[in-house]
Amino acid sequence: MDIYCSRCGEPWDIDTVLRESPEEFERMQSLITRCPACPEDPKQISEKAKKRRAFLHVLSDVMGDDIDDFASECENLENSGILDD
Ligand SMILES: [Zn+2]
Repeated sequence: MDIYCSRCGEPWDIDTVLRESPEEFERMQSLITRCPACPEDPKQISEKAKKRRAFLHVLSDVMGDDIDDFASECENLENSGILDD
């Protein structure tokens, strides 16, 4: 299952984030706050990624450090179409 970087929106497999290369990510509980795909220039972050970030912060507050539930809610968010409006 994937979780999304709250900064740039890149999807990452939980195993990569937790076990394979955790040193490459900055996190606050379940939330990825910086990943290897994040652009240096914040202007390169898409509107969709900015919208996603707002939702991810709320989800993270609710889920705390339960990363599996967080990933499941990330998937629901991506499939809901709400980010595409
Ligand atoms: Zn990122």
